[in-house]
Amino acid sequence: MEVLDTAALLTWPLEMLVGGVCASSQLSEVERLSPARHLLIEAQGPEFVTPSPSAIELAKEISQRTGDYSGLSNVDLEVLALALSRSLPLVTDDYRMQNVCESINHPWRGVIQDGVKEVRTHVLVCTGCGLIHTQGEVCPDCGSALKLKSEKTN
Ligand SMILES: [Zn+2]
Repeated sequence: MEVLDTAALLTWPLEMLVGGVCASSQLSEVERLSPARHLLIEAQGPEFVTPSPSAIELAKEISQRTGDYSGLSNVDLEVLALALSRSLPLVTDDYRMQNVCESINHPWRGVIQDGVKEVRTHVLVCTGCGLIHTQGEVCPDCGSALKLKSEKTN
């Protein structure tokens, strides 16, 4: 599992978001930026969690130490708080959040990178309804067999 920042929520294919964790406040951020996307991720996106006040306090403390605090939004802080308190890698292209993670050796990776492309190149496609799934042998929607399919990389 990974904590996903809002850029990932907006740009990643839906099937990649399913295993992720996000802050509840990101849901309203996405609603504001992309109402269509909001409907999709609310229905079948990642897990949305509200970080505890102590987790937010920790994220605040560490980002104050690196000097990044003033540049972070409340949503950013909640995203950081989730990653730190749950010891989950953070997926973000925001250099401030990356910097905060670096300062305490917390794992992070960019939203757009090779690892992401690799996941995209192999998908499980249902032979019945054609929906794409991330795992399993049988489609949870229609019960048909899933088939591994390679997608063209651009
Ligand atoms: Zn199916």
